[in-house]
Amino acid sequence: MKIETLSVHAGRKPDAATGAVTPPIHLSTTFEREANGEYPKGYNYSRSSNPNRESLEICLAQLEGGQSAAAFSSGSAAAMTIFQALSPGDHIIASDDLYHGTRNLIKFFEKWNIASSFVDMTNINNVEKALRKNTRLVWIETPTNPLLKIIDINKISILLKKRNIKIVCDNTWATPILQQPLELGADIALHATTKYIGGHSDVLGGAIISKKDDQFFQKIREIQKSGGAVPSPFECWLVLRGIQTLPLRIRAQSESAIQVAKFLDSHRKVEKVYYPGLPSHPGHNIASAQMKLFGAMISFQVKGTKKDAMRVASKVKIFVRATSLGGPESLIEHRASVEGPDTKTPQNLLRMSIGLEHPDDLIEDLSKALK
Ligand SMILES: *Cc1c(COP(=O)(O)O)cnc(C)c1O
Repeated sequence: MKIETLSVHAGRKPDAATGAVTPPIHLSTTFEREANGEYPKGYNYSRSSNPNRESLEICLAQLEGGQSAAAFSSGSAAAMTIFQALSPGDHIIASDDLYHGTRNLIKFFEKWNIASSFVDMTNINNVEKALRKNTRLVWIETPTNPLLKIIDINKISILLKKRNIKIVCDNTWATPILQQPLELGADIALHATTKYIGGHSDVLGGAIISKKDDQFFQKIREIQKSGGAVPSPFECWLVLRGIQTLPLRIRAQSESAIQVAKFLDSHRKVEKVYYPGLPSHPGHNIASAQMKLFGAMISFQVKGTKKDAMRVASKVKIFVRATSLGGPESLIEHRASVEGPDTKTPQNLLRMSIGLEHPDDLIEDLSKALK
């Protein structure tokens, strides 16, 4: 089945008890045992599993082409679970441009004796040079946040073949509609379902999808169940609902983003545009090969200083000045101030999430703000 069809149907079926087409939300935290002590429906306590989370996990596994998925209460909880599944003495290689929360988490695990190297993965030699005997995890994020670097997932998987190293790809910005990391050689796809997958700026969530239901995934499952950083049944329901329109939303948003990026690229007050859909982007060819469209995130540097960038952000009327991404409303933010004092992000850089408004209106809004 095609991914549009899976998005509508995977993990769902009409409710056996009532015929309801939309799944009921099962709020019960506990489930009844049979007289013989068994749990014939497979559920016993909602932290371990519940019908809404199970539906969501089945759906996510099918969308990413994995054997199993585990849903979490946020993208960060999902990322933390992967680091917790490592052992003291292990080493992680991650991209130098990376969601700042993931970078902070990796650093956080230093005190559990998990070492890390942050390298520019657009050059595969840097990954090879960073390899150590104890490297167990390579963390890819592509496109990267906030500089939209493109990392060649397949090339890295070929480099690491036959080594005991898990390749994780944070696929939040591309979604399985635009990019399929497991097919390109990654072992695990990770999502902040908070973003495009939920898609309406109204639910936090995370997910880990594993190509194989192997020992490493079993560890993840164990941490999910015993650690309990799980989404509530209602949150699972919201994310599953969001998925039904994901293919349409991400396509429309990506198509608008190309137009906005082109507009900015030709504007005299813009110093630089970071968008992989522009032929001038250094990762354009790789993105064309590994992504179906180029996504709906754009960063750009305003000519001048932080003050000039802030002034542009202060003048927009349709874009909402807020962090996050992937919702129906377009967002704009001064990224360096979100990332804090250690940031390497240029001070005149603004990051945008292109929403579902008409691109002409977005371009007019930016045009007025740049005047
Ligand atoms: C937002 C985000 C995360 C973290 O997700 P939360 O749900 O906010 O914890 C991780 N990776 C990327 C790429 C993100 O954009």
